[in-house]
Order: sequence, then structure tokens, then C-alpha cells
Amino acid sequence: MKIICVGRNYAEHAKELGNDLPEAPVLFMKAKNALLQAGRAFYYPDFSKDIHYEAELVVKICKNGKHFTEKFARNYYKEITVGIDFTARDLQQEQKKKGLPWEIAKAFDDSAVVGEFAMLPEGKDIQDVRFSLKKNEDIVQQGYTGDMLRKVDALIAYISTFFSLNTGDLVFTGTPAGVGPVAIGDTLEAFLEQESVLKCQVK
Ligand code: ZN
Repeated sequence: MKIICVGRNYAEHAKELGNDLPEAPVLFMKAKNALLQAGRAFYYPDFSKDIHYEAELVVKICKNGKHFTEKFARNYYKEITVGIDFTARDLQQEQKKKGLPWEIAKAFDDSAVVGEFAMLPEGKDIQDVRFSLKKNEDIVQQGYTGDMLRKVDALIAYISTFFSLNTGDLVFTGTPAGVGPVAIGDTLEAFLEQESVLKCQVK
């Protein structure tokens, strides 16, 4: 099982980090060690002083495939949820400055929190889904999948040209604007439409 993540897939978020809009999707991966199931606590790691939350729509791959086209992408997923792509922003900025890979900033243990999955109802457009993240008492991120620069089907097809997709793989589809830091003692709660799908305490 692997986790494939997409960077800079919402214009407003790219802007808030001072990034240009990419010509092709920006992809990076997390391995199984990064997975943190809903309900488990996140322990603030000592290698960073600036861990950020990034709430994202997560798609679960339900069928093996490689190099398929966008037209067939819908056959490869049935369930979605919201996840948090925890990012050591301080390390990421350093790595970016030096032109180095992002793994230490993005793929560390427990950096991919995944909520409870829900079936995408038949006929429901995956580009018409709202999700949000609450930090303590405040809504800090509100996403609408219609705002994605690259739609889910196009993304998954693009990913499949480089990496075989396998049943159980997860695709994090990028974060909308509003990312920010977490501190020990914070509680994060994510919602898919109105449904609470994930709660995570920072310890
Ligand atoms: Zn992200």
C-alpha cells in the first residue's frame, strides 16, 4: 500500500505559499509508515517546529491498474474521505530552497491521517464535494472539489502513467487554502460534506 499525494492543486493554496501554478501535477509519495488511522493521536515530532495541517479529499483505489486514460479513471475508485497531509513546513522550505526532495518534510511517520471512508454515491460528481477542517473551535479550511486545478479522474490517470495503482492505495488530492500550524493540545476534526469523518488530537 502506498500513498500518492498531489501538491498545488488549488490556486488559492498555491498563492498562499507563494508558489507558481504547475504546468503538470506535482506528485510526491508517502509509504505505509506515514499512515495514521482516524481516532489515533498525532505526536508532535521533535525534528520540526512548524508542523502544518493540510486537509485534503482522499480517494481509495479499488482496482489494480496502470497507464489508463482519464475516461476509465472512475472505475478505479469507489470510496472517498478527508485526510490530513501533515507537513513539516520548516523542513520543506529548507528542502525547496536547496532543490532537495521533500520526504523528510512530508513522508515521516504518522504524517498521513485518514478519516473513515464513505462510498461516493452513484451519480454523485466527485468534483461537487465539500469538505472542511476544524481546529479546536474554528473552521480553518473549507474545500470544494470543483475548485481543483486538476480533476480527480485526470489526476489518477496521470499518476497511473508513472506508478501502477493497486487496490488499497490512497491518493491525497491536494489542499485548499487555509493551511496553518498545529500545536500540542490542538484537536483537528475533518468533515466530508456535513459528516465528521476524522478526529485527531495533537500530543
Ligand atoms: Zn498536501
